Amino acid sequence: MNNPFQNAMAQLDKVAKIKDFGVEFISRLRQPDRDVRISIPVKMDDGSLKIFEGYRVEYNNALGPYKGGIRYHHDTEINEVKALAFWMSIKCAVAGIPMGGGKGGITVNPEDLSKSELERLSRGWVQKLADILGPHKDVPAPDVNTTPEIMAWMADEYAKITGDKTGATFTGKPLEVGGSAGRGPATGLGGFYVFDALRKELGLPEKCRVVIQGFGNVGFNAAEIFTKNGHSVIAISDSKGGVYNANGLDIVKLAEYKKTSSTLTGFENSKNITNEELLETECDVLIPAAFENVITDGNAGKVSAKAVLELANGPLTPEADEILFKKSIPVIPDVLANSGGVTVSYFEWDQNLKGEKWAEKEVNEKLKPMMEDASRKILAKAKESNTDLRRGAFILALERIQLKTK
Ligand code: NAD
Repeated sequence: MNNPFQNAMAQLDKVAKIKDFGVEFISRLRQPDRDVRISIPVKMDDGSLKIFEGYRVEYNNALGPYKGGIRYHHDTEINEVKALAFWMSIKCAVAGIPMGGGKGGITVNPEDLSKSELERLSRGWVQKLADILGPHKDVPAPDVNTTPEIMAWMADEYAKITGDKTGATFTGKPLEVGGSAGRGPATGLGGFYVFDALRKELGLPEKCRVVIQGFGNVGFNAAEIFTKNGHSVIAISDSKGGVYNANGLDIVKLAEYKKTSSTLTGFENSKNITNEELLETECDVLIPAAFENVITDGNAGKVSAKAVLELANGPLTPEADEILFKKSIPVIPDVLANSGGVTVSYFEWDQNLKGEKWAEKEVNEKLKPMMEDASRKILAKAKESNTDLRRGAFILALERIQLKTK
């Protein structure tokens, strides 16, 4: 299987075939502006020293400071981070925010570390990278396995090193240290606004049966928001497996159940299913909200959803994309579907720089029209070029980036 960066470049190539952006511009986008690998020495609780590998990829800043999360995962490696940084460049352009694309990470399973080891590791990442970060240079945020608490440690470390008083270098911080109201559910909520704006156009019913892979920040919030808006989540999973109920799952109860039993399986009134079965479940909307490369040429033929809403980054391989396209299953691409998260991160940065604090209602009221506008524009681009929504999104993003590229 291709690595995620090869997938990302395959997407870029496909777009370059349907719209001529010129060879020079496309070749600039085939490389990040800078990719940095660091080693982070951490004193462990038992007194030993362990060295971790960390990354920051600054992909493109034509539209504004590099922006993108930091991922902690044992499989994280440079090609994954480069792909995610490329997608951030596209995503920020799609969302219409004045930010470029970046991404960071550390190869680590955070569950193997104590809280104090995790804090030293997170502060160590900032110590090595402080020179290239900054509110007007590069603004990181959380991603898989990084939390508001980790952002608070990082923001504090950055302030200690540089004396920065804006707090705008890291977003996704807890509310009490300059975080934005509404950042937690923003990705799921933005995904819902996008889905709602496109639902009729995609021929989906008013009340959809929804299947979600992932029960973390994005999957859980999406499940709650879709349920609150009258849709029913009939299957959902985490890394240990999933549960199914044709009449809809009670998401609030399921979250409580997971807290006490640390798994979803065995939940009342539901059937246990594997992650493979979940992806093949018959439904109106399938929402991958866990990891990349989960729908491939191996299982795309078995997807029996009427549409796919990509809340995870890169959940479909390019081959899977083609298979679903041929099966006339529309895919609402990650760069649009999950751009609510970075949009509210941008709101946080903006509030920090202006010394303001917006209420959650205000945040959501600003988010909704932006998501709707991006959805409409992408649909129009896709129709204009007689292509799918992913290519429509890339065309819109590349046009915006090219306009600002010197
Ligand atoms: P998270 O760490 O909070 O949750 C990840 C979830 O995926 C967990 O429930 C985990 O159990 C599950 N999972 C892990 N491996 C799995 C597997 N093999 N099969 C099924 N489930 C599995 O992460 P998150 O913040 O919810 O991010 C999820 C995805 O959304 C990622 O692709 C991330 O890049 C993307 N994303 C997140 C945000 C954000 O605001 N958090 C924004 C944009 C995109």
